[in-house]
Amino acid sequence: MPLFDASINQSRPDRCVTVRTLHVRGKRTPARWLACAVPLALAFALAAGAAGAASSASLGGQLAPILTAGPRECPRIALTFDLCPASHEPGFDAALVRWLIEHRVPATFFASGRWIARHPEPLAELAAVPFFELGTHGARHLHLPTLGEEAQRAELSGAIEALASRTGRRPTLFRPPYGEYDRTTLGLAESLGQRVVMWDVVSGDPSPDLSARHMWATVESQAEPGSIVIFHANGNGHHTLEVAERVVTELVPRRGWELVTVSEVVAGCEPAAAP
Ligand SMILES: [Zn+2]
Repeated sequence: MPLFDASINQSRPDRCVTVRTLHVRGKRTPARWLACAVPLALAFALAAGAAGAASSASLGGQLAPILTAGPRECPRIALTFDLCPASHEPGFDAALVRWLIEHRVPATFFASGRWIARHPEPLAELAAVPFFELGTHGARHLHLPTLGEEAQRAELSGAIEALASRTGRRPTLFRPPYGEYDRTTLGLAESLGQRVVMWDVVSGDPSPDLSARHMWATVESQAEPGSIVIFHANGNGHHTLEVAERVVTELVPRRGWELVTVSEVVAGCEPAAAP
């Protein structure tokens, strides 16, 4: 039986009309494609990377935007779930996904190529849910900054092609494995039509040492309007459903937020304009 039953009324509440603005270090900008923020790691890479500069030149110098959050003035957040290659079977948190579907929670999943190859049925289930969004997470989930340009290209394009061929939809969102990237990564992502999606709230669910209570406290204290929260849906997460459930049923309603996909959270939001 599929996780998502299209015969059930899956209507969603009215949502904001989007505007093409994003936050850049706290300032509004009219350019939708600008990055929300530039993490320190990239700043160091850009400052120090002669090799990165050479690769960038061969890629035309255009860098993909890095998305870490949406506009802070818009009361919406995005839950994201990485599908890294799983260390053990089944490699998919079906209970988590089932709960998200039952509660009509918009979510964004980032699938690695290795996960895609081993999980055709779960992938089809995810692709069938209209309020889910799919991006990629590297073909083999490698540490991109340790690779040359062609190996990085294979990492990005391998997962993109795998997802596109199996779902019929070409993804445009890419989350670097381990959150690691350099200038070459950004140049390749741009050339492949990808936005690089990071996060501003870490659930910590890969760690077996964190309690659900600690994880909840972290998410509750760090989340703010526009936040992108990172979890995992590959079965390696600990307390993932427990914490995500509290976010959905407690945090979001209490603060009057709306749950949306990554594309929606970074798109901006304002009340519908009068005709
Ligand atoms: Zn990963």
